[in-house]
Amino acid sequence: MTWVRNPTTGGAMPAPPVVAPIESITETAGGWVCVCRNTEHSSGFYPCDESGAEIEPTIDGPWDGVSYVCAACGRIIDQNTLKVTGRAKE
Ligand SMILES: [Zn+2]
Repeated sequence: MTWVRNPTTGGAMPAPPVVAPIESITETAGGWVCVCRNTEHSSGFYPCDESGAEIEPTIDGPWDGVSYVCAACGRIIDQNTLKVTGRAKE
């Protein structure tokens, strides 16, 4: 834990947690553009599981129906909100 000076009391207080901003990809007329600039026409995006591993979107398969992974950077994308929900594990 890191500490900062409380501006009101002058005493020490725990530093507030650093919250990473939520990233989201961009949808254009030409398709998705990832934060890393990958597009559907370069490395592409593929259905994945919650760990970012590519999976086949079969009827009885484990795909949740919303998660795609960017093949270039491994960001996991919710196709309904286009928000980045995670990063594929190395
Ligand atoms: Zn990407």
